[in-house]
Amino acid sequence: MLSCKQYVARSSDHMDRQLSVRERLQMRHHLLFCPNCRRFIRQMRLMSATLKALPEPLPTNLDATVERMLSEQSRQR
Ligand SMILES: [Zn+2]
Repeated sequence: MLSCKQYVARSSDHMDRQLSVRERLQMRHHLLFCPNCRRFIRQMRLMSATLKALPEPLPTNLDATVERMLSEQSRQR
């Protein structure tokens, strides 16, 4: 079994669909029982979706923009 730390380290690979089917199943199984990793990966996904949704060119007040987008998204949930 992998530790939480190892799952978290793989979480970006997971998002990129780089893992084998077996690894993906292990990850899903772990996430089922581990709220900590679940929360972390949800935040990672939210963050990368937010970054993709940012306008080009990037606004100068990037931190404030990302923060506002994240708070808007979490309100919708
Ligand atoms: Zn975990």
